[in-house]
Amino acid sequence: MMNANNPSLKSWVPVPEGSDFPIQNLPFGVFKTTERSPRVGVAIGEHIVDLAALYDQELLLGIELPSYNLFANDSLNEFMALGRGVCRQVRERLSELLRSDNEKVSHDEELKKAILVTMHEAEMLMPVKVGDYTDFYSSIEHATNVGTMFRGAENALMPNYRHLPVGYHGRASSIGVSGHPIHRPKGQFKDPDDELPSFGPSRRLDFELEMAFITCKHNPQGDCISAVDAEEFVFGFVLFNDWSARDIQAWEYVPLGPFLGKNFASTVSPWVVTMDALEPFRVKGPEQNPKVLPYLKTEGEKNFDINLEVGIKPEGSEEKVVCHSNFKYMYWNINQQLAHHTINGCDINVGDMYASGTISGPTPESYGSMLEISWKGTKPVTMKDGSERKFINDHDTVIMRGYAEKDGVRIGFGEVKSKVLPAKL
Ligand code: MN
Repeated sequence: MMNANNPSLKSWVPVPEGSDFPIQNLPFGVFKTTERSPRVGVAIGEHIVDLAALYDQELLLGIELPSYNLFANDSLNEFMALGRGVCRQVRERLSELLRSDNEKVSHDEELKKAILVTMHEAEMLMPVKVGDYTDFYSSIEHATNVGTMFRGAENALMPNYRHLPVGYHGRASSIGVSGHPIHRPKGQFKDPDDELPSFGPSRRLDFELEMAFITCKHNPQGDCISAVDAEEFVFGFVLFNDWSARDIQAWEYVPLGPFLGKNFASTVSPWVVTMDALEPFRVKGPEQNPKVLPYLKTEGEKNFDINLEVGIKPEGSEEKVVCHSNFKYMYWNINQQLAHHTINGCDINVGDMYASGTISGPTPESYGSMLEISWKGTKPVTMKDGSERKFINDHDTVIMRGYAEKDGVRIGFGEVKSKVLPAKL
C-alpha cells in the first residue's frame, strides 16, 4: 500500500466529518483567488494547498520536477506529462507535509498562511486543457434501457455491444467546469408523428451521469496501448455531466451518430482524483460473456466502487436526489477502453478526456439519465416543490456527486453542478 493511502493518517488541517477530501485523497485541481493567479492546488478538508507556493518554499525538493515552477500554471497538463511516478512522489510528499505529527509545518503560522487557501475564497478553474474528448457507452444497463425504448426489448443491445466498447468522438471545446451555467440548446427535431422537422429550443434537455478519466502520457500514432499497460496512461478521474438534447439527438443520429444533441456542453468536477487514491476501491467488473478478443482481455480488479448520485434543484426550491448509481457497474473497464481506442493506431495525448457513458445500475433508482428515469417521458418525477420533471427545465440546477468509502476513509470527488439558462434568442 502507498503510505499516502494509510487509513490511520490524520492531518493538522481540519477535515470535517464526511468530507470528500481527507488526507488520503489529495486530488489535484486549478484555482485562483483575488491575490493568486491561476495555479495548481490540492484539496484537503475545506482548504486548498497552493502547490506553486509549496514549490517556492522549497518543500518539493528531491522530486524530479523541472527547474521552473510548473505549478504556477493554468492547467494540470504539464504536471501530468511528468507521468504517474512523479505525481505519486508529489502526493506522498504532500501527505508527509500535511500529517498531524509534522510539527515543522503545523507550528509555522507564516508558512501555513503562504501555502493554504480556504475553498470559499478560491475560484475553481477547468483542471486540464482537453485536447480530445471521447465518450464511451460502457454501461450495459444504460445501453439495454435505451435500446429497449427505441428498438424493443428483443433488439435492445446491438450485436457488437458485448464484443467491443462502443464510443464516439465528442467535442473538447465545450467542456466546462462545475459552477458555470449552460444555455438550453436550440436545434431541429421531429417527432415520429410529425411530417416535417421543426426548429426551436430543445424540449428534452437531459443530463448523463458519467465519470471521465484523463490521460497523462502520449501514445504515438501507429502504436497500440495494451490492456495490461493502460493504467500507466491514466492520471485520474472527474465526475462528468454529458448534457444531452434527446429530441435533437433522436432526429440527427442516423447514420453517423451523436452531433449537435451532444456537443453544446459537458460539465466536469474541478478536482481530479488520482488513480493512486482510488487504489483501495478496486473491484471486479461484471462477468463478460461471450469471452472478449485477446486484445481486450484483462485480469483482476479493474472496476472501481464509487457511489454516485444526481440531484435536481428547481429555482427557489430544495434539491431532490433522482438517482443513486455506482461506477462499478461498467461492463467495459478503462483498460479495455484505452486498448480498444488505440488498437487501430490512433494516437492519444496528455490531457485527453474519456467519459464512461451514462452509468446506470440494475434498478430504476440507479438510472443515470432522465430519459431512463422518466422512461422517455412516460413517468414524470415529482420535485420537492410539487412540480414534475420529465426532462430538465430552465433554471434547474443539476448536481452530481461521487465518493468511495472503505475502512473509515471516504475518497470523494466533490460535485459537478450547473444551472440551465433559457435558450439564447
Ligand atoms: Mn454520454
